[in-house]
Amino acid sequence: MTKRFIPLILAILLFIIPIIIPTITYSQDGISLQDSTAEIYFPSALVFKIKAASQSDITKIRLHYQVDRMNYAQVTSEAWPDFTPSPKVETKWVWDMRKVSLPAGATVRYWWTIEDKSGDKLITPADKIRFDDLRYSWQRLAVGQLSLLWYKGSQSFAEELMAACQQALERLAEDTGVYLEKPINLYIYASTEDLRGAMIFPQEWTGGVAFTEYGIIAIGVPANELDWGKRALAHELGHTVTHQLTFSPYGAVLPTWLDEGLAMHAEGEPDPYLQSWLKKAITQQKLISVRSLSSPFSAKPEEAYISYAQSQSLVEFLIQNYGKDKMLQLLNLLKEGNTCDEALTEVYGFDQDGLDKLWREYITEQTHSQPGFEYASLRKVNAEAILWEEVLAKLVKANMLLGVH
Ligand SMILES: [Zn+2]
Repeated sequence: MTKRFIPLILAILLFIIPIIIPTITYSQDGISLQDSTAEIYFPSALVFKIKAASQSDITKIRLHYQVDRMNYAQVTSEAWPDFTPSPKVETKWVWDMRKVSLPAGATVRYWWTIEDKSGDKLITPADKIRFDDLRYSWQRLAVGQLSLLWYKGSQSFAEELMAACQQALERLAEDTGVYLEKPINLYIYASTEDLRGAMIFPQEWTGGVAFTEYGIIAIGVPANELDWGKRALAHELGHTVTHQLTFSPYGAVLPTWLDEGLAMHAEGEPDPYLQSWLKKAITQQKLISVRSLSSPFSAKPEEAYISYAQSQSLVEFLIQNYGKDKMLQLLNLLKEGNTCDEALTEVYGFDQDGLDKLWREYITEQTHSQPGFEYASLRKVNAEAILWEEVLAKLVKANMLLGVH
């Protein structure tokens, strides 16, 4: 199948004109495929059109499609467009994204089966279409398994974001042995408003979304919030890499403290603002039990800050004291369907309660050996930290409501 080159000018007119990917005509037995197209109406629909002819009435037309995503069994879906039997048929099937939505950049493989009254059958060769967000002219920067797509901002803006992502990957590989298994596309929208325009049911707090199974991360990073963008991208990437590694037919679910802790480890140095919350929780005896942190975090900001800070500290504790091989072993046991307590006990010799006890001793000792820590950290509350406050609230809400983070 050949695909027509899409001129740039067409990409600019995408609000009005859908992009059309035609297939060549094809025939088998008495049936001939005269036209087959897939049209993108981003983000609301994907329309598959077909035109076929035969010597007798065409009686059955079926669309088969597969979505390119992480799956243990390849799922082929079928759709039956409406038409009246006739020797010449022209019909379409509309994938309404309000029912089942696809993220920007998801690829769909599709083909048709056409049958006529005399028993002839034509199965067309498969074609592919990428559900691109055609409202913008995307530029691409690719390094290794990562592709960064952006449309506003300079080359150095994209390069800085890419460098932060590469550092996050290196940090994870070096400290946990976790590495990227499949390519990831990072869509950088110029604002959260633009990002919301890419979603069917946008929420006002949506700042970034990771579609792990599709290998897609979409995030709004205004050019003047580059530092925040680097941290947020590293965080989402951390989730995606970990989820790729632990993806399994057992439907492994990581305890939230481990999932968030690893994502924060990918960000790099602990955020001083969150650190100050951790210190406050220690001195005011407001620490949350590891067992409670294995469930979704509280939506209350204060508890959320402590939850995130504690999760990062728990992960650092395990990495620093027991090394990366054990962390990788822990993730692999979780992938195999073990519970968190089973996996922890096998690898470290203690369960979540044991971890709680050891970690508290460790963190208390650390805090006592750094008496000026609280004061210094609290003074460091700056614009970036305040931005984080908003982001965390968004992330917490996202976790609670959508199951994405
Ligand atoms: Zn997260």
